[in-house]
Amino acid sequence: MISENLKIIRDNIAAVCQRAKQSKDEITIVVVTKTATIEDIKEVIGLGIQDIGENRVQEATVKFSRLPALKWHMVGHLQTNKARDAVKLFSLIHSVDSLRLAMVIDEEARKINKVQEILIEVNTSDEATKFGLKPEEAIETVKEIASLKNLNLKGLMTIAPIVDKPDNARPYFRALRGLKDKINEFRVTRDELQVLSMGMTDDYQIAIEEGATMVRLGRAIFGNTD
Ligand SMILES: *Cc1c(COP(=O)(O)O)cnc(C)c1O
Repeated sequence: MISENLKIIRDNIAAVCQRAKQSKDEITIVVVTKTATIEDIKEVIGLGIQDIGENRVQEATVKFSRLPALKWHMVGHLQTNKARDAVKLFSLIHSVDSLRLAMVIDEEARKINKVQEILIEVNTSDEATKFGLKPEEAIETVKEIASLKNLNLKGLMTIAPIVDKPDNARPYFRALRGLKDKINEFRVTRDELQVLSMGMTDDYQIAIEEGATMVRLGRAIFGNTD
């Protein structure tokens, strides 16, 4: 089932990219494993996946010790008291949602001589229940975070709200894309932002149409395991 699911996803991505006259090689599939077993994860690795996403530091620690070298992505909310472990484990932290968290990650990275790659999470739907910077304060905070020496800010991340039709998620993806373009246009960061992490099982094709470079997929690969 996993291999069929992954084939469908790859075909879908190729089709969207062809329509959008974009290269499919520019899209990274981050497989979010949540409740998936080690065997399931080994299967996706065998199918050529190199990017594995986790939303809990604790879970990642266990899986990390039992799997070959991979690019690990932290996609869930990160508490400052878990920052030290996160810096040791993850190649890319998608969920930096405050200056304070960024400063703690920067400090922990400095201690182990690492430059930590990060994305900044933006709450594009401005829902009170969601983490992420408010869009109106994002540029100011991005500027401050980008100045921290042991962080390498690669781009932005958002989680679209749950909507009836995938197409209704489009405005939130478009907002993130707009923010990235504005940051690059006004040279807010030292290096241009390249990465847009947006789109999950229900809406990844829409997200790619709107400029996603990373999609985070769980159920599309493993089915509903929860
Ligand atoms: C679980 C999760 C995903 C994957 O969600 P699916 O709908 O199962 O594809 C992506 N991003 C984050 C932050 C998640 O927590």
